[in-house]
Amino acid sequence: MPARKPIIGITPSPMEDTQAHGTFRRYAAATTYTEAIEAAGGVPVVIPPQSGNIAEIVAVVDGLLISGGGDIHPDLYGDSEVHDATYGIHDLRDELEIALVREATSRDIPMLCICRGIQVLNVALGGTLIQDIADQYSTEIEHRQQENGIRKEDPSHTVAVMPGSLLARTYGTDEITVNSFHHQAIRDLAPDLEINGVSTDEVVEGVSHPGSSWILGVQWHPEMMFRDHPEHLKPFAALVAEAAKKAEPVAV
Ligand code: MN
Repeated sequence: MPARKPIIGITPSPMEDTQAHGTFRRYAAATTYTEAIEAAGGVPVVIPPQSGNIAEIVAVVDGLLISGGGDIHPDLYGDSEVHDATYGIHDLRDELEIALVREATSRDIPMLCICRGIQVLNVALGGTLIQDIADQYSTEIEHRQQENGIRKEDPSHTVAVMPGSLLARTYGTDEITVNSFHHQAIRDLAPDLEINGVSTDEVVEGVSHPGSSWILGVQWHPEMMFRDHPEHLKPFAALVAEAAKKAEPVAV
């Protein structure tokens, strides 16, 4: 029986738009995520936020991509105050993604966690976040590169990669140039995670879950970069390759 392409579940962001016939609340995944998964040989499937249904969702996916977006509710990592700069909180999305991370780590499902995703990975496993880098962390790096007019497809800072880490094996290098669109970052690392990469100001930019076969978190957006900077297809290719090991052949 031939192998089938692995199915990668992608979590979308809530959004709202107004048309002539009314205002609509939607769940939307940026096309760059689905294109990156397709370019890597996988089949992207968007998973809307919902309560429960986790067992059913993980029964039909071979891998997961936790995408970028707004901030996680600070209650979920024990911060009693919501910082003025914290934005875009969506409780149902938090609930779904935290449940997916816990399921993936306990059932060894391959998972790539991007931007907000690396933060969800950390919070779901007991870590905490810096709510606003500009206000709460001393750095010379502008982690919101739009402030410097750098386009989303291009890098704005470097990441030093820990030798032998999952991130090092994925990119095959000890330094990566990355884009940066985040105002939050990991503060206390969750006990079961390992730091794989840091920017020169020591902000955590890459983590892995060594108890799993392939779970990687990155603070940058490789899906925005992979067309102009092909090395950034590597995390998607590695996710799909790992998910392919789980994909059972189908009869045709
Ligand atoms: Mn950054």
